Amino acid sequence: MDQKIMDLARLVEQGRGLVVFSGAGMSTESGIPDYRSPGGIWERHRPVMYPEFKAHAWAREDYWRFYQEWFPGFGQAAPNAGHRALGRLHAAGLLRGVVTQNVDGLHQAGGVPSSAVVEVHGNVFDTACLNGCGHQEPTAEVLERFTRGDKDPACPGCGGVLKPTTISFGQNLDPTALERAAQLCASANPLIVVGSSLVVTPAAELPLAALAAGGALAILNRDPTPLDERAALLFRRPAGEALDALAGALLKN
Ligand SMILES: [Zn+2]
Repeated sequence: MDQKIMDLARLVEQGRGLVVFSGAGMSTESGIPDYRSPGGIWERHRPVMYPEFKAHAWAREDYWRFYQEWFPGFGQAAPNAGHRALGRLHAAGLLRGVVTQNVDGLHQAGGVPSSAVVEVHGNVFDTACLNGCGHQEPTAEVLERFTRGDKDPACPGCGGVLKPTTISFGQNLDPTALERAAQLCASANPLIVVGSSLVVTPAAELPLAALAAGGALAILNRDPTPLDERAALLFRRPAGEALDALAGALLKN
């Protein structure tokens, strides 16, 4: 067994609660590309800014057209060894929760219950009414209406504007999700950052909450991050394999 994985397992065993903060690198092994990378979907679609989306039916039509292309890949994706390892750790009482920048729902599919996952950038599968009437429905159903010819699908309850819960350019993060994420990170020891380059704010600042509260930080990412110097352990290896090894060390399976 890899000595660094053993060191990480010891941090988890001796700490007061493991929390994982994940980004795009967590899901690349599930075939979900980092959409900010070169060749990503934003090179074929003009980004729709949130104020435009709220104000104009044509912008909403552009956005739903983009979603028609973007959405199917998520339905086909399956959790990878890393997601499943976190599911096993949660089931064993060794993972307090996950804060994720990902919108793919794969942590839940991998076995971490929704109540223990904070999605700071929303989720592609959920659509909600922007009027705050409380209406929610599966994105797949709204897309079906769009595909059948409803170019500006509206809330069936109040007629308001419907939008997937994924955060758009120019849209603020949900303050409730952000507050839950900050609390979870502040309670973490250790906090493991997985597959995030920690450059997109404000989510990228969440690991600082763990450090400020005295929690240890471990970073598992392909590329350097601004917090590497503050990490107790640093891994440059695929997320799935490393988390699987960690679960193996902790669960002695
Ligand atoms: Zn509504």
